[in-house]
Amino acid sequence: MATIIKSPAKYIQGKGELKNIFKHIKKLGSRIFLLASENSYKRVGEIIEESMKDIEGAAVTFSPFGGECSKDEINKAVEACRKSECDIVIGAGGGKTIDTAKAVADNLDIPVVIVPTIASNDAPCSGIAVIYNDEGVVIKALFTKKNPDLVLVDSEILANAPIRMLVAGMGDALATYFEARAVKNSGSRTMARGQSTNTAYAMAELCYKTLIKDGVQAKKDNEQRIVSEALENVLEANIYLSGVGFESGGLAAAHAINDGFGHLPEAHGAYHGEKVAFGTIVQLVLEDAAELNEVIDFCISVGLPVTLEQLGVTDISMENIKKVADAACVKTQSTKNMPFHVDAEKVCAAILKADELGKSKL
Ligand SMILES: [Zn+2]
Repeated sequence: MATIIKSPAKYIQGKGELKNIFKHIKKLGSRIFLLASENSYKRVGEIIEESMKDIEGAAVTFSPFGGECSKDEINKAVEACRKSECDIVIGAGGGKTIDTAKAVADNLDIPVVIVPTIASNDAPCSGIAVIYNDEGVVIKALFTKKNPDLVLVDSEILANAPIRMLVAGMGDALATYFEARAVKNSGSRTMARGQSTNTAYAMAELCYKTLIKDGVQAKKDNEQRIVSEALENVLEANIYLSGVGFESGGLAAAHAINDGFGHLPEAHGAYHGEKVAFGTIVQLVLEDAAELNEVIDFCISVGLPVTLEQLGVTDISMENIKKVADAACVKTQSTKNMPFHVDAEKVCAAILKADELGKSKL
């Protein structure tokens, strides 16, 4: 199996950088199809429109995002984009808006630019769109033809985003190194459909080191709305290192356990990154890893969940835990990428052990 690395064509991050967006995209297109929720549009729409003012032929068509990255939503946006004769898609918002924008551009074979308005997950840099049904259950991962043409991160906009979003993003990024390590040790295939590279592995390692070094400070700065060096570092870790790291470094038990929690309605109030953080602790229990305590302490220091109750799960019956573990261990799940055999029984025991450890530390 060959080694493969995938990444966006260009990544730009900086305070107030969104106001320069036209300069960055003019070679890609000028008739913009802007997919964003009403709320995200309020935060970025005017800045994008202002950057194109007085430019001949440039135009912005705003398409309100309906809230779910579903087939219906994608088809609706594809039709609207085609009708408006736009030549470039900008997806501004969180994971689902971003993934819908990728799918729309992929369908029409036009460039796509991603403008995250929250740093809560690893979606912006990848070439994968997670498709849900109308009930909000994952139905498939769409592998688009290419990764985004540009990911533009305006750190000022992200410094003004809710704190819980940054923290959830750290939870998602926390898994990157440990999943990449498991995939490397097992020789499994990554999400880039090849073997892991030394480059992706080094990025995943840097991602973890950055969180440990700057995570607590970045959260404090986010609370004060300050674009500090620590916040910039964590934004880069949450968005770039975690994105390229998971796609080209691979997924293992942590993300599979997150998907398992999708089968427990009680956990639906928790964000992706929060469930992934707990999934990371469970993976480290399975591995009996040296970093277990450091990771739990980190989670507590930034406010990531370390117990089932913190994830919203109060009914800790064997039946409930088994639902999560069974779903995490189906054949298609990334638990198969662990370097040793993992079954539902082991995952059940590891979830309970993780919960116990978390409770004892709180
Ligand atoms: Zn993730």
